[in-house]
Amino acid sequence: MRIQYDSPLYRPPSEARSVIFQVTLGCSFNECSFCDMYRSKEYTERPWDEVKKEIDAMVEYMPHARRFFLADGDALNLDTDYMIKITRYIRSKFPEAERISCYAMPMNILKKSKEDLLRMREAGLDMFYLGIESGSDIILRKVTKGAIAKTIIKSVNKAKDTGYVISCMIILGLGGRTYSKEHTHGTAEVISACAPHYVGTLTLHLDEGIRQEFHDKFGEPFVMIDDDESLDEMYDVVSGINVGPEDQIVFRANHGSNAYRIKGTFPQDKQDMLDQIRWLRQHPEVARPKGLRGF
Ligand code: SF4
Repeated sequence: MRIQYDSPLYRPPSEARSVIFQVTLGCSFNECSFCDMYRSKEYTERPWDEVKKEIDAMVEYMPHARRFFLADGDALNLDTDYMIKITRYIRSKFPEAERISCYAMPMNILKKSKEDLLRMREAGLDMFYLGIESGSDIILRKVTKGAIAKTIIKSVNKAKDTGYVISCMIILGLGGRTYSKEHTHGTAEVISACAPHYVGTLTLHLDEGIRQEFHDKFGEPFVMIDDDESLDEMYDVVSGINVGPEDQIVFRANHGSNAYRIKGTFPQDKQDMLDQIRWLRQHPEVARPKGLRGF
């Protein structure tokens, strides 16, 4: 039996080589105005017999698989006992399994008790990918994210305190030109307050299908930032992040939507990253060609 994925299927770039099991379909929230990933799907939790059949089938093809990603948009919305059943079964069938991860919204994490998070961790769930998007409450409200800075910080800290690795995304340009400073200031503050293990940047891209909805929800004229301004936003975010040596943050702008790539680890590489950005600002010729950018 081959796995027939329910399209579209998304996973973080760092899970490109992972085995993917779709334990849910769609996103239980599906309201963020900048995201059309799961607009074509109704949120569904897949029954155990289907999930089990696919895990069993994958053992035949990839018995030595080490990394697993549970799709779709927020598998952490699953009931704790069901998630434990899935992760335990994967671990029992793939003895070389090193990591099981999924997407999570701040609310998914906050809805779980500390005990639930610990039980899932013990069962073998290791890592969450969480979209911070912006640390500004004004922008989070305008893009209908369903979270505010305080809940994002609380959820990331709760996940870290219960032993999870947490990788977060922020979106350059999400506040447009008007709220650019508000966006970078709030985002740097949130990252400093919760110090996720990984932070990746994306750059706002609005597909035709959701452009109007995004503008309507934003509630006032929205002007997209250009490549120079996205670099300026990156500079402001990097420069505003302040963490101690005990809070190592791997920072990367390597997603295909970004015009420029940078990487480094806070706090030790902060100055180096700022120097990289200053250099890039003088060398627009190294920007990723627009036709090669993807969201
Ligand atoms: S950004 Fe995440 S939470 Fe928001 S609609 Fe998309 S998948 Fe759902």
